[in-house]
Amino acid sequence: MTQDIRAADIKPTYENISAICPSCKQHNVYNRASDIGHFRAISNYRVICLNGECGAFFYVVGDLINPGHEMLLLDSWSFFREKRYIQAVLSAATAYEFFFAHFLRVELLFRPNLRDIDFSVDEIQWLNDHAQLLIKKTQRHAFEDMRRLFLRVALDRHKLTSRAAAAGYIAGLPKKPGAVLRREVESIANLNRSKLLLRVVEAEIAQLRNKVVHKDALRPTRENTEQAITNAYETIFALGTHFKIGDTDYHLNESREDAAP
Ligand SMILES: [Zn+2]
Repeated sequence: MTQDIRAADIKPTYENISAICPSCKQHNVYNRASDIGHFRAISNYRVICLNGECGAFFYVVGDLINPGHEMLLLDSWSFFREKRYIQAVLSAATAYEFFFAHFLRVELLFRPNLRDIDFSVDEIQWLNDHAQLLIKKTQRHAFEDMRRLFLRVALDRHKLTSRAAAAGYIAGLPKKPGAVLRREVESIANLNRSKLLLRVVEAEIAQLRNKVVHKDALRPTRENTEQAITNAYETIFALGTHFKIGDTDYHLNESREDAAP
């Protein structure tokens, strides 16, 4: 007898996917790092039910293809609905940090590579080498340093017209990024951009996160959490749209026009 293999819709999060087994109705959680073995979006992926007495195979469908920062924001809202406000705040703060780091990769690596007119360079080699350098320069940075770098690069991105310009920029990144002054952001000619970047200047999610994770182990209220994560959600989604930030695959295949500063 051939086994009837069925499909199940999944509930995706940044870290896991979960699905109800079509045979025994058990709620199964599959970890992307440990059970799936990769972090790409899953489509028609065959899994085995984790209920040892069932063990049915089925296909999981309907994964999200959002970039990581958006998935973390969606996770944050799931935690909020479950009244897990601590986790909601942690996810939203991490979404900011993920977005800052990803933005730096896009603007300092992918886009200068695409804008360059020297076609003789081994692009993958160049990207790998400079990604390593960027990691080295930023790996010890906490939220505030990453916020400063993000704002600085958002102001300077028009200068990053070639691989050489980007390489010089990365090499020159200071150990301790200097503050970006409010008036520098306010004087950006593009008003929409200026407003969005000011929201980043004013974001207080990191202070709230610190109270949650440090010795006070603050349990934030519904109101505090909702305000902080709504702010993060709206700001990060709008920044992603404004600067056309997608996932890594999107940027590896981005058009030259979209990569224009
Ligand atoms: Zn089952």
